[in-house]
Amino acid sequence: MIPFLDVKSAQLELSSRLAGAFERVVNSGSYVLGEEVSLFEKEYASWVGASYCVGVANGLDALHLGLLALGVGPGDEVIVPSNTYIATWLAITHVGAKVVPVEPDPLTHVIEVCAIEMCITSRSKVILPVHLYGYPCDMDSITQLARKYGLFVLEDAAQAHGATVGGRRVGSHGDIIAWSFYPGKNLGAIGDGGAITTNDAALADRISVLRNYGSRVKYYNEALGFNSRLDPLQAAFLREKLAVLDDWNRRREMVAQIYIQELSDLPLGLPLRPLNGQHAWHLFVVRVRDRDKLSEWLFSHEVGCLIHYPVPPYRQLAYQGFFSGVDLPISDMLCREVLSLPIGPHLSVGDARVVCEVVKTYFQ
Ligand SMILES: *Cc1c(COP(=O)(O)O)cnc(C)c1O
Repeated sequence: MIPFLDVKSAQLELSSRLAGAFERVVNSGSYVLGEEVSLFEKEYASWVGASYCVGVANGLDALHLGLLALGVGPGDEVIVPSNTYIATWLAITHVGAKVVPVEPDPLTHVIEVCAIEMCITSRSKVILPVHLYGYPCDMDSITQLARKYGLFVLEDAAQAHGATVGGRRVGSHGDIIAWSFYPGKNLGAIGDGGAITTNDAALADRISVLRNYGSRVKYYNEALGFNSRLDPLQAAFLREKLAVLDDWNRRREMVAQIYIQELSDLPLGLPLRPLNGQHAWHLFVVRVRDRDKLSEWLFSHEVGCLIHYPVPPYRQLAYQGFFSGVDLPISDMLCREVLSLPIGPHLSVGDARVVCEVVKTYFQ
């Protein structure tokens, strides 16, 4: 079986480095925040090209604390793509703001920038683009639009570690960028983890206070904060994995290149390469009619695949009653047609070619 994703064998490749990281933390005697977390924050900020990084417990918290730091709350509207993982929307709902969904470009799957402007009202506060699947959004246009209307830009970069746009890495453009280090992401911990990056010292400061009980000095609390600290053990693992991230992303690029070359003549919607940047290839998502049939074919030929995502957030039970009468046909269509082929640092060139053969025989 060629698995969709094999996080374990990727991890095992680094087992001695990870064991060293584990020992470092155990021997340090410092098990909450501390030096490993600060070092990871420094290294990740520098890798991304941002001035500051603040580690938090997970990607949802990064989005949530990011919105709080920007002062978003009840009465505010946040413009967000209609097709994303539900975390992006939950963060907005949890601060009491209104989700304003904008449909994606069906070719790139990321927010249609031309459609954003029509949705801006006097209550709009933030544009929240998602670099879905690792495809970088057009940050120049989004930033320009945000400036024109006095809005903040908070980016969901949970799937975009290593993507670039306009010659810079994702994570260095917007006001706040939210990251997840969920194990399956391009940069994944061995458990939960997350971070924000920013170039704004005041925002970084606010988030570092919010993640730690609203406290700057122990037992003195200046804000109604949270316990959302990046675990030092995860920070230590992430430092080791950051050292190989560029290499692992190159392996993803190699697999994507094979898929694009080999599958280009089939009646299959292939992902586009960004015109002005580099895809992070977190996922390799194709579009196909009768998606479930192809998925069954793959499994019966020992190739794993997944659907990202089968149900758009506005149709989830969790949002029942929020969007009655709303129709988002592009999201609905994408949810019916998308299929993610195996991709990741674990996948050999040979395996990628096998996947292509199995897909090709399906269409014969
Ligand atoms: C993974 C993911 C998140 C949430 O990250 P967690 O660390 O699981 O909380 C948010 N947004 C997107 C687009 C994601 O893929």
